[in-house]
Amino acid sequence: MSEALEITHSAPIPKVFYMEKEEKQFTECTICGKNLTGGNELYLIEKAFEKKTGSTQAELVFELACCMDCRQEMHDSLSIESNEKIAAYFEANSRVEERDRELKEHNLVDTDIWLNNCIVKNKSMDEVNEYQIYALCWKDELVFHQMPFMLCGETIDDILNLLSSKSLDIINDLTADLIDLPPEFGELFKDKKVLFI
Ligand SMILES: [Zn+2]
Repeated sequence: MSEALEITHSAPIPKVFYMEKEEKQFTECTICGKNLTGGNELYLIEKAFEKKTGSTQAELVFELACCMDCRQEMHDSLSIESNEKIAAYFEANSRVEERDRELKEHNLVDTDIWLNNCIVKNKSMDEVNEYQIYALCWKDELVFHQMPFMLCGETIDDILNLLSSKSLDIINDLTADLIDLPPEFGELFKDKKVLFI
C-alpha cells in the first residue's frame, strides 16, 4: 500500500477501532511510540477478538496501532517466501479490490458493512468465535481503501500455516509483547497472532 495513496473515502474513526480500555483513539504507534496524530503518515490498527465458550460477546485479545515504518520493518523481517505466500493467498482467495470498488460504487461506505464478513471465508462475525479487524487510518479518519476488513479465525490459521518457522517466531515474539494478560490466560490465547497485512 503506497504512502502516496489518494484518500477518496474516509470517515471519523469509529469506536470499534478505539483503544478498548481508554475508549480513546490511538495516538501513537504501539511498537515504536511515534506520534500518529500529526497527519504525516498513514497507520494501521489491528484488533483481535474472541468469544469465550458459551458466550456470544466477543472480547478483546489484543490491539495495536502500527506506523508504516514499523509495518515495513515487520514485513522485511519475515522471509521473502513467507511474504510471497501471504500475498498469493490473498490474491487467490479474497476479492479485496473488487469489493472496494463495488462497495464504493453503491456508496456503502460504512465500517459495519466492510467488517461484517471475513474477506476470505465470507463468514459473518456472528458465526465465528474469533476474528481480527484491520483499519487504515490517517489522523483521526478511517480511510476506506481495501480496508477496513475482518479475517475470521480460520483465515488466520490458513495464513499462519503458510509461514516459515522463523517467520512464526518473529510474530510470536511480537504478539507476546502485546498480549498483556495474567499468565493463567496466556495459554488460552497462545494461538493468537499479530498479522501485518
Ligand atoms: Zn512505529
